[in-house]
Amino acid sequence: TLDLTKAYHTASIHSVPKDGSELPLMEAFYTIQGEGANTGTAAYFIRLGGCDVGCHWCDVKESWDAELHPLTEVAAIVEQADAFPGKTVVITGGEPLLYNLHPLTSQLQERGIRTMIETSGAYPVSGTWDWVCLSPKKFKAPDASVYPFADELKVIIFNRSDFKWAEEHAARVGEKCALYLQPEWSKAHEIMPLLVEYVKLHPKWRVSLQAHKYMDIP
Ligand code: SF4
Repeated sequence: TLDLTKAYHTASIHSVPKDGSELPLMEAFYTIQGEGANTGTAAYFIRLGGCDVGCHWCDVKESWDAELHPLTEVAAIVEQADAFPGKTVVITGGEPLLYNLHPLTSQLQERGIRTMIETSGAYPVSGTWDWVCLSPKKFKAPDASVYPFADELKVIIFNRSDFKWAEEHAARVGEKCALYLQPEWSKAHEIMPLLVEYVKLHPKWRVSLQAHKYMDIP
């Protein structure tokens, strides 16, 4: 079996062109957004390979090594996205901000497609975005420059100490940023009662569930 810990340490993102004309595409699919502020809306997901954040509970570890995923021309990615009626794209990963995302977002927006990103914020923002979901990870803190871009802060709660950690990030985003707490899937039963009580006491937060898992869609 593939030793993903090693894969993560040896993964190279250096073969990805700096001009953002090609990106390591892991998968792309049209589905319903299942998390956070845009839950329930149709969107085309583009998952880019490559991540050096290293969350131990990551459920897409196969994304970590960028070299496992084919470098794909941005024009081709955009062409495929435009074939779907949702006209909303969510760029996810992996950690998509490893790459120059200006060509991708500008070509999508030229076609009237809304651009959204799911990021740990580990690297500065590139690209132009209609919606930025910042989901900070303990394993590699967000770059300080990313917080002002966040339209949505989504903090995954794995244990009870994570609430305090969530507040530290909430103090750094803008006033209009929507605040979400989401139980880590494998711990949801244990965490949910704590999370419910926390949101009742601190109503600036909302609960985010991984609704796509209930809908049995990707
Ligand atoms: Fe996985 Fe995302 Fe963490 Fe990277 S940032 S290890 S893709 S959960």
